[in-house]
Amino acid sequence: MESTFFPHFTIGTDAYDKVPEICGDYGKTAVIIGGSKSRAAAEPLIRKVCEGHIEILGSFLYGDDATFENAEALTKIPEVQKADMVFAVGGGRATDTTKWACHLMHKPIFTFPTLASNCASVTAVCVIYNPDHSFRCTIYRDRNPYHTFINTEIIAHSPREYFWAGLGDALAKQYEVPFCARGRNLNWVQEAGVANAQNVAKGILKYGKEALESVDRHEVNFALEQASLAIILAPGMASVCVEDDLDSSLAHAIYNAQTRTPHKGKHLHGAVVNYGLQVLLDLDGQIEERDKIRAFALSINLPHCLEDIGIDPAHPEELIQNCLHTKDMKVKPYDITYDMVYRSVMNIEELNRQGK
Ligand SMILES: [Zn+2]
Repeated sequence: MESTFFPHFTIGTDAYDKVPEICGDYGKTAVIIGGSKSRAAAEPLIRKVCEGHIEILGSFLYGDDATFENAEALTKIPEVQKADMVFAVGGGRATDTTKWACHLMHKPIFTFPTLASNCASVTAVCVIYNPDHSFRCTIYRDRNPYHTFINTEIIAHSPREYFWAGLGDALAKQYEVPFCARGRNLNWVQEAGVANAQNVAKGILKYGKEALESVDRHEVNFALEQASLAIILAPGMASVCVEDDLDSSLAHAIYNAQTRTPHKGKHLHGAVVNYGLQVLLDLDGQIEERDKIRAFALSINLPHCLEDIGIDPAHPEELIQNCLHTKDMKVKPYDITYDMVYRSVMNIEELNRQGK
């Protein structure tokens, strides 16, 4: 299946076959930038389809996180400077670092997500971290990547935890975007973004569990393809339309706060966001939706209490305090106070105690 609608993408086990035809318009040379595992998964195939069409000048590690420093360093590599275009291979952090490097160099970027974990490969936004891995900022390029090649065979062989967290992250878009947009005068494009956001959960709730099981079996099927699109494309389409202000709210605020709050263990973005979504839905009185999301979270073991995101249930104060001060909380339909978030966090703990 293929679409030339914005964002441009190709999905399927043969998605890379289109690389020469689509990227050929932008020049004759390219470099590959990504993580080490993701390049190992995708690079041989990319090189094969490029043979005789596009010369690959080199392949480079993006760094260890999506930082301004790593993006700057990439722009200093001679082969990167020389290449007509850049192929960003990997997950969100590799992609965002490369997206920002290409923004600095004004170079065409094509993305090859090797994980279905977020919409980074189709959006203009870059999520930037500090060198110590704490969240720094989100920053916008002036356009999204030129084309995204989603190879479902590679997704089926990707680490399950990224797909799992991706399902959790995408679900948040369904609720955060309309929450931010509530009561505001939107333009046509923003309306389209809200409509797209409201179409995310359907695919995730319908195909998510089956798709995750397909990843476990390394099997490509309809559910895997649909859930991949629901993770990569659907939130991306919402995001490119509504832009920064309406893109995220309390669910992402809790994730960003969690990275800045002392916590136990390592937790993937989407997993923490999905916990935050449960808090948001509780706070907003969307109890039926909260329970639907919790039931899904429980069915695939996404976080459903503070302990699951490494926070001491007896002391959520710092997390809540931090979340009120993130950029995600800038646009909201009503004032959100410390007490309101605290109450909802406790409501979620209580549900967890009851095994619900
Ligand atoms: Zn997210």
